[in-house]
Amino acid sequence: MSKHSLQLCNFNDLPDWQKDNPLIVNYYVRETNSLFKSLCSIFLFHSESMNIFTHLIPALLYAKFTYNAITTLEQVSYPIVFYLISVIICFLLSSLFHLFKCTSVQSNEFWGKLDYVGISLLINATIVSMALLGFNESRYTIMKNTFVTQTSCLTAYVIILAIKSHPKQGENEDDNDGTLSEDDDCCCDDHKGTRAKLFASLGLSGLIPVITGLYIYGPKVVYYKINIPMVIASVLCYIVGTLIYVFKIPEKFYPGRFDLVGSSHQLFHIFIVFGTVCHYHAIQTAKNFALNQAST
Ligand SMILES: [Zn+2]
Repeated sequence: MSKHSLQLCNFNDLPDWQKDNPLIVNYYVRETNSLFKSLCSIFLFHSESMNIFTHLIPALLYAKFTYNAITTLEQVSYPIVFYLISVIICFLLSSLFHLFKCTSVQSNEFWGKLDYVGISLLINATIVSMALLGFNESRYTIMKNTFVTQTSCLTAYVIILAIKSHPKQGENEDDNDGTLSEDDDCCCDDHKGTRAKLFASLGLSGLIPVITGLYIYGPKVVYYKINIPMVIASVLCYIVGTLIYVFKIPEKFYPGRFDLVGSSHQLFHIFIVFGTVCHYHAIQTAKNFALNQAST
C-alpha cells in the first residue's frame, strides 16, 4: 500500500465522525480504514502532521535525555526519572493518537482513550514528583505517602472514567454520569472539553503541594526549595495552552490559514511541552535543595 493511495480532503468531505474543527478547512487525511495507511500518512504533510511531531520530537528528546541521566549520573533521583518517563509516555501516546485517529471511528476512540491515559499519568507524575522531592524530611513521611497514595488513587479513577466514558457516536451508554459525559455529548470526536478539563487540572494540581509546602515551611523556604518561578511558569504554560486550545486561537480569526502550521492544537502541544520543561527544572531544584540539606 503506497502513501499515494491516501486521500487528503477538506472539512466538508470528511465523514461525520472525523469532523471536529471546521476552522481547519483543508489537508485532512480522510478515513483510511487501515492502520498501515495511517502510519504511511506520516510521510505526507497534512492537518495532523504538526500535532504528531510537536509531541513525537519532544518524546524522543526526553527519552534520550532520560537515558543519559540514568546511565551517567552517580545518584539517580527516582522521582525525577518517574516524572520523565511519564512525560515520554504521555507525549508518545499523544503522537500515536494524532497519527492513527484517521483510521476509523473505533481507532479514533481507542487511541483517544490512550491519549487520556497519558494525560492522566502526566498529571499524576507532576504532583507525585513534587510531593516526593518537596517533603523530603523524615518527619513528613506519613503525610507525603498519604499525599502520593491519594493522588495515585484519584489518577486511577480519572483513567477508569476516561476509558469508560467514550461512547461511539450514535451509541448510548448508561454509565455516563461523570463530568466527562457532558463533553462526549457535545463533542464526540475529540472530547475537547474533557481534555481541557484534565489539563486545567494538571495546571492547578501543581499548586496543591506548593500550598501545603507554604503552610509547613513558609514562603521564603518554599521559594528556594522548589523554584517557585519555575512552578508558576509551568502552571501558566498549562493554563495558557489550554485557553488557546479551547478558544481555537488563532484559526478562529483566520479560518483555513493555519490548516498545516500554527493551529491552536499545535500551540497547545507546544505550551504543554514547555510546561513539562519548567516542572522538570522545579523538581530538579527540589532534589538539589534536599541534597544540600542532607550534606549540611
Ligand atoms: Zn493533541
